[in-house]
Amino acid sequence: MAVVAEPSKKLVCWSCGSENDADAQFCASCGKLQPYTPTDYFAFFGLPRRFQLDTASLERQFYRLSRKFHPDLYARASSEEQRWSLEKSSVLNDAWRTLRDPLARTEYALGLAGIRLEEQSRDASDRAAENGTAKQQVVPPDLLEEVFELNMQLEEMRMAKASGADDPETRGSLEAAKQNFDSQMKTSEQDLQRLWSEWDAAAETDDGETQQAAQQKMVDLLNRRSYIRNLLRDVEEALKN
Ligand SMILES: [Zn+2]
Repeated sequence: MAVVAEPSKKLVCWSCGSENDADAQFCASCGKLQPYTPTDYFAFFGLPRRFQLDTASLERQFYRLSRKFHPDLYARASSEEQRWSLEKSSVLNDAWRTLRDPLARTEYALGLAGIRLEEQSRDASDRAAENGTAKQQVVPPDLLEEVFELNMQLEEMRMAKASGADDPETRGSLEAAKQNFDSQMKTSEQDLQRLWSEWDAAAETDDGETQQAAQQKMVDLLNRRSYIRNLLRDVEEALKN
């Protein structure tokens, strides 16, 4: 997925002609805002492309840039500068929202590596659920038995509810299932962080093979998470009175 053209090495300031880094937002010599050029969110923040990120420093950078790009500051500037400040403000907000969130960041970085994860996107799955068009997901093999049991319990719970009675035993089983899935979600977060470190370390040494392997494991993990999240939603729904 080539969303981004390879940036040129240097950026020549439109105002004073000085050379700047390709991803400079402002000229280092005269301080003028530089044109907006499409780039990925990491480069926009001047960051290397990594899964692990210091979100506290990212947040400081976000607020600093928000102030410096603010369109009010360019009310008397040229129309180009006004346009760049608007474009950069908008990209800044998108970049911040994406990179601050661990899962959104993971999906985004995988996307930059050419991996599309539309099925895993929380927005997409919520939309699909709302429209009643949720796609049939493949059951992770190690969950087959659990899911089979669970579906029977869910059905029993529905029948009990339909007849106006409660079924304490099934309720107990569903509550246990919910706890189990909650803890699997937590474990998957730790696993994901471990994969981030593997990938990031491999990026430092240009070890493409390890990066590819870690990416694939992230995809599997996100698939599994998405599946468990849907199960949790079903269980929580069934446990409601
Ligand atoms: Zn300049």
